[in-house]
Amino acid sequence: MSEKGRLILEMAEQASTCTACDLAETRTKVVFGDGSADSPLMLIGEGPGMNEDATGLPFVGRAGTLLDECLREAGMLRKHIYLTNVVKCRPTLEEAGRIKNRPPRADEAGTCVTLWLEKQIAIVQPSVILCLGAPAANAIIHRSFKMTQERGQWFESKYVRFAMAALHPAYILRQEGEAYDTARQTLVDDLMAARDKAKTAKDEPKTTLF
Ligand code: SF4
Repeated sequence: MSEKGRLILEMAEQASTCTACDLAETRTKVVFGDGSADSPLMLIGEGPGMNEDATGLPFVGRAGTLLDECLREAGMLRKHIYLTNVVKCRPTLEEAGRIKNRPPRADEAGTCVTLWLEKQIAIVQPSVILCLGAPAANAIIHRSFKMTQERGQWFESKYVRFAMAALHPAYILRQEGEAYDTARQTLVDDLMAARDKAKTAKDEPKTTLF
């Protein structure tokens, strides 16, 4: 195992007992990350859902299957990227007796980013970060990120020289017909752009915070 892989494993072990925010009270498993810690390309989603909470792995279930399909169409497998989320524990709410997913609150995201995501980025030192959905783009690119206007554009962030946002697979699954096909192809295109950028950018000097 590489040095980065070893450090990520150690950090995942530490995070597995984290109780720094309220999400610890309702989670089953901390979902730390997956893929290669040596990759120049990091994908960051919003947070675990029901399947991720049960398995401890990010992007499993329907959204994960769609992401894996789109990765393959963009010429990659999960082992070629490092994959994680803004928050490592599933945010939930109870509605009519049912437990549902909800977006992480700003305080939960802020705590988890400071405690874990920033340290993950510091170890992996990706050349490129692709944010899946607005919450990840808000954390990595800028706080008022607008997916409709800014998706697919490159930004320099304090974490990485090249950051971009793409549609979250769970959002794509909520589309129907032509809108679904268009959104799905958009994700494939953004993954290809991120792959190409990671290939050319990996020898450039790393930015900035770390
Ligand atoms: S979401 Fe992050 S900060 Fe909150 S308990 Fe889980 S690992 Fe800790």
